[in-house]
Amino acid sequence: MAFSRTLEEKTVAKMIAIYCRDNHNSNSEICDGCRKLLNYSQKRIEKCPFGEKKPVCAKCTIHCYAPQQRAEIKKVMRYAGPRMLYKSPFLTLRYLFRKIFKSNVY
Ligand SMILES: [Zn+2]
Repeated sequence: MAFSRTLEEKTVAKMIAIYCRDNHNSNSEICDGCRKLLNYSQKRIEKCPFGEKKPVCAKCTIHCYAPQQRAEIKKVMRYAGPRMLYKSPFLTLRYLFRKIFKSNVY
């Protein structure tokens, strides 16, 4: 099933904003570090060679996150994921977790 890249980007942006607000005391703007992580994530989404026809994550053969960013985004998702459930469809989150972390989803 194809998945909207725009929706993916928005979800990541929201998660980083929640994480930054609560952990870095940022107000309306996210901090520099989080902005870098957000840019990185969005580039990964844009550069996905599967484009709008992405395969389900289990079938994706590309490890597109570098280890450091992968660790950072994972922290963000662990923190913000549960806090977003009330406003975002659970499936969206599950999709993202699977797509990025494939083997070690919880
Ligand atoms: Zn931050």
